[in-house]
Amino acid sequence: MSRAPSDELALLTRSLESDRIHSAYLLSGRGDRPREAAQEFARGVVCTGAHPRPCESCGDCQRSTTRKEIAIDGTGKKGPLLRHVGDHADLLWVERGANDTRVRIGQVRFLQNALRLRPAGSDRRVAVIADAEWLNEEAQNALLGLLEEPPPRTTLVLVAATSAGMRATVRSRCQKVAFRPEANDPLDDPDNIEIAERLSRIGQTSVPDVLDWAEDYRGARAPAAAAVQHLLLLGLASLRRSVGGRLSTEGSDTGTAYRPALDAFRTLGDCRKTLVQRNANPQMVAERALLALREAERR
Ligand SMILES: [Zn+2]
Repeated sequence: MSRAPSDELALLTRSLESDRIHSAYLLSGRGDRPREAAQEFARGVVCTGAHPRPCESCGDCQRSTTRKEIAIDGTGKKGPLLRHVGDHADLLWVERGANDTRVRIGQVRFLQNALRLRPAGSDRRVAVIADAEWLNEEAQNALLGLLEEPPPRTTLVLVAATSAGMRATVRSRCQKVAFRPEANDPLDDPDNIEIAERLSRIGQTSVPDVLDWAEDYRGARAPAAAAVQHLLLLGLASLRRSVGGRLSTEGSDTGTAYRPALDAFRTLGDCRKTLVQRNANPQMVAERALLALREAERR
């Protein structure tokens, strides 16, 4: 765990410090932090060294150090259905296969079978299911079985960007840790709320209204150019957020549906360049960027 635990990590840190590890945890939140926390927590559970755990020096910590991550293939044809954290036999890790839109039921069944055996050498073992928001109904049922009758000396850690789609019966059996959105997302900055709001509705904004909006960036070049730079930054963040959201609800097999978004990413990148390197008119740049964003968000 982090040496200066944030509020979010307090529950996990307390569990490790008191050696009272629950049978299931649910870590939710966007970004990498819930995943990293799950990994460090799992490593801490099997660590046999001094607190704070993971101690990074005992034999278990050495085994659980993640050197090279093995890519999981959800079908088991080209890669494993699950992997270990580092090469620690008592730390199991399941996630969505590289080209999969789901955590497959076969992966959860494989995990169930693996957990029928005793822990390999540790007092307790940990199975992490990352991408838990990608478990379909059938896989959630299998998981529920594991939560209702946890295998002895086993802790399950679910990691999900959002727990909204997960069954209440699954959620209620877990100790929950919610991670706040990462502060470095400029859209969450209170100063940017107004533009963030407008951007989130741009798909439904008419062309004349978009052109009106671009007029905000008239006037003295330096401040206008700075404001457009800022707009481009927020536009890119908004585009990333909307593509991320659509990927998690629609899956990635609708490749062509993302075309306009890709075009908009390119256009916005180009806008940044012309603004900085070619002294382009800020209002014109804003216009071009906003129209590209509007195109990307129309459906
Ligand atoms: Zn250790």
